[in-house]
Amino acid sequence: MDLETRAIHVGQDPEPTTGAVVVPIFQTSTFAQPRVGEHLGYEYARTGNPTRTALEEVLASLEGADRAVCFASGLAAEDAIFRLLSPGDHVIMANDVYGGTWRQIDRVHRRWGIDVTAVDLADLDATAAAVRPETRLLWAETPSNPLLKILDLTALAELAHGHGARVVADNTFATPYLQQPLELGADLVVHSTTKYLGGHSDVVGGAVCTDAETAEELAFLQNAVGAVPGPFDAWLTLRGIKTLGVRMDRHCANAQRIAEALVDHPQVVEVAYPGLATHPGHELAAGQMRGFGGMVSLRVAGGIDAAKTVAERTELFFLAESLGGVESLIEHPGIMTHASVAGTDLEVPDDLLRLSVGIESADDLLDDLLQALG
Ligand SMILES: *Cc1c(COP(=O)(O)O)cnc(C)c1O
Repeated sequence: MDLETRAIHVGQDPEPTTGAVVVPIFQTSTFAQPRVGEHLGYEYARTGNPTRTALEEVLASLEGADRAVCFASGLAAEDAIFRLLSPGDHVIMANDVYGGTWRQIDRVHRRWGIDVTAVDLADLDATAAAVRPETRLLWAETPSNPLLKILDLTALAELAHGHGARVVADNTFATPYLQQPLELGADLVVHSTTKYLGGHSDVVGGAVCTDAETAEELAFLQNAVGAVPGPFDAWLTLRGIKTLGVRMDRHCANAQRIAEALVDHPQVVEVAYPGLATHPGHELAAGQMRGFGGMVSLRVAGGIDAAKTVAERTELFFLAESLGGVESLIEHPGIMTHASVAGTDLEVPDDLLRLSVGIESADDLLDDLLQALG
């Protein structure tokens, strides 16, 4: 079955006692057991909940993974991955990862003996030079946030595997509809399901999709640490996933249109969008993705003040953090989403704005940006 069909059917058979065609919200903390030591598959809702199971099954299918394990947020999912490591282990991380990912490893896990090096993973020689005998993970995000760099997942997997390390791909920006990291050689896929998978800016969640053995360790952590999504959150995410394909097609078309229109605008210094032929990762993206995504970044002429003015002047594009919802958003990464990396190697330009292009009419979105830039 194709992905669009699996998004609607996998893990989502009609409910057997009533025939409800939508997976119910199993809003319960515990499950009655017929006999001591015997249960019907569920005991306690931190350990497992049928609404969450449905979400885990569909996510595993979409990413082509043995199993998916869901968490209360993308960062909780990432935390579980880092907990697979031991003191002394080393991680190589893309030098423009999501700011919260960097903050977590740098300020939380480093204290427990995990070392990390930030590298431009688009530079394979620099990446190879950063590998140490104790390197366990290579952490890639492609397209990256907020600079929309494209990384060669196949080449990175080859490099990592040659040194006994594994590749984690943050597939939040691309989604499994546009990119299949496990097929390209990655070992674990991590998601902030808050973004395109949920798709409606109404829920926070995360997931890891991987092989059965690693997923078993992650499921142990899911239960032992307890950062689980509630049943309503799992249900909202499931509901969003059903329309992933049609939403992503529209996000891609709208973003392409806006990127092409802004490229020659006198108030715009640079547009970063992998769908532009001038983007350095364009060929690579065309090879490893089915579309170029809904995120566009631009540098505004006139520096930080001009960038802030534009961000505050849009009307349809709400000034807000996050991304991946049906409504368009604009933000200033330097002051907003990426404030946690200010003053580090991961700092972003202060005239940069990031657009999460929604699925409204492209004409209306473009008019809004042009009036804000004008
Ligand atoms: C938002 C985001 C995260 C973190 O996810 P939360 O759900 O906010 O915890 C991680 N990676 C990327 C690329 C993101 O955009």
